[in-house]
Amino acid sequence: MSKIGIYPGSFDPITLGHLDIIQRSLNVVDKLIIAVSDNKSKSHMISIDDRLDLTIKTIQALPDNLQKKIEIEKFDNLLVHYVKSKNASLIIRGLRAVSDFEYEFLMTGMNRTIDNEIETIFLMSAEKYHFISSRFIKEIHNLGGDISKSVPKPVLDFLSKI
Ligand code: ADP
Repeated sequence: MSKIGIYPGSFDPITLGHLDIIQRSLNVVDKLIIAVSDNKSKSHMISIDDRLDLTIKTIQALPDNLQKKIEIEKFDNLLVHYVKSKNASLIIRGLRAVSDFEYEFLMTGMNRTIDNEIETIFLMSAEKYHFISSRFIKEIHNLGGDISKSVPKPVLDFLSKI
């Protein structure tokens, strides 16, 4: 039976930290669905269509054998419902530091109260990516700083135009 994992997130924008988690998760699942959240109650700098497009373009730079195992789509319903609708049983999340832990811990616990059959697994990115966050990327970029070591090329190109 093939194992399908869902990697949900805002990806506002996708970073090299996300990409590292995506590649690592392919060692754990047979198929990975990157689920870009279209949660209207959260404010995003980049539109859902652009976040989706940048994620697709970023994945296109991976080798074919990895690309084959990845699907990318947006979702706007409850995560556990979305996971079930995809016949998946695994949620993948990334951990950088202790600061991520509390939020992730609460989210996993809440998801479990809704559906106890779905497991969440946490992967750690490589150390060099620990300090990368979409939030800081946006702040640094807005203040004219260099983000080229933290984001994939399509994101760099996109941000340089806005
Ligand atoms: P969300 O709004 O759902 O937190 P994000 O796009 O910020 O969406 O993050 C999606 C997932 O990727 C989260 O589990 C987050 O902790 C993880 N993540 C983000 N950046 C990194 C990074 N640099 N290293 C490891 N995990 C990361």
